[in-house]
Amino acid sequence: VFNFAAGPATLPENVIRRAQSELYLWRESGMGVMEMSHRSKDFMSIMEAAEENLCSLLEIPPGYSVLFLQGGASTQFAALPLNLCAPDDPADYIVTGSWGDTAFKEAQKYCRASAIWSGKSEKYTKIPSFGSLDQNPAAKYLHICANETIHGVEYKNYPIPTNRSGLLVADMSSNFCSKPVDVSQFGVIYAGAQKNVGPSGVTIVIVRDDLVGRAQGFTPVMLDYKIHAENMSLYNTPPCYGIYMCGLVFQDLLEQGGLAEVEKKNVKKAEILYDAIDGSKGYYKCPVEKSVRSLMNVPFTLEKSELEGEFIKEAAKENMVQLKGHRSVGGIRASIYNAMPLAGVQKLVAFMKDFQARHA
Ligand code: PLP
Repeated sequence: VFNFAAGPATLPENVIRRAQSELYLWRESGMGVMEMSHRSKDFMSIMEAAEENLCSLLEIPPGYSVLFLQGGASTQFAALPLNLCAPDDPADYIVTGSWGDTAFKEAQKYCRASAIWSGKSEKYTKIPSFGSLDQNPAAKYLHICANETIHGVEYKNYPIPTNRSGLLVADMSSNFCSKPVDVSQFGVIYAGAQKNVGPSGVTIVIVRDDLVGRAQGFTPVMLDYKIHAENMSLYNTPPCYGIYMCGLVFQDLLEQGGLAEVEKKNVKKAEILYDAIDGSKGYYKCPVEKSVRSLMNVPFTLEKSELEGEFIKEAAKENMVQLKGHRSVGGIRASIYNAMPLAGVQKLVAFMKDFQARHA
């Protein structure tokens, strides 16, 4: 089956096979990773290797901490303002889709968050021109969602924060490790693992060290970056098995040649899918402005919208599953994360052409 789900999503086959081969017995430990104490030497070595490999992949510069947490990116929507702001501090949000909007609304509870731009009236099909942004100089940070999973809008470069602290913060849940990123441009990057790098249950936070230790007084201990940074993500029981799986994925991405190579593959997959949509003479349509179309999540509609259900049903019969668009927008969405093979996209494109010919 080719699984086009938006997440949890398909994982590399060789990673799954490796995990399967180690399920009952990890090296000389006499046990599987799921059964290990999180404070054992064996698990510590798994976690350290995962972190090291992630640092190599993203070329994370010194002065940043990597945290492996729980609670999903949704928990970070609250953790961010709690760690970076006092209740009266302003923070700027650019809202390019549903996830950016959810992050913004959550932040409003813990600081004076403002949406300085929203693409809602244009159905979230655009990224603003950075020059036109009215940033608040007193804002503690500027928040973006680097890739809107539901709407398929992705930043190709990033705005320069003009706030006094110069802080840019990004939710990279759905394009994490899909291409190289200059981490030094960001104060905080956070991502749920379950799209590109592992199973759900692991949330990765990359935070600049000078931002750690400033949490509001009533911040729950589990949301305080300082607690997790000081305890190397072992303050409480971390999502051990998920971290192990992420570690295997990081190693696999390095073996593929790193993120520049991964990006090339992702560009190729996205190109053939968007070309098929644009070349269909309007039979299929992607509403997103071409320059900001996502390499990861490709939403499209059928000119004859009444055929969308049939499209999804027939595709599933041919072993291409989870193509239904998000319930809030409808249509079709093909999520083509790192682990989606080129063959999966080629098969989808062939199916789209055939479907069009049969239902013209
Ligand atoms: N941000 C983005 C861009 C997402 O795609 C998602 C989930 O799909 C979330 C945040 C929420 O993540 P979680 O379900 O891990 O809390």
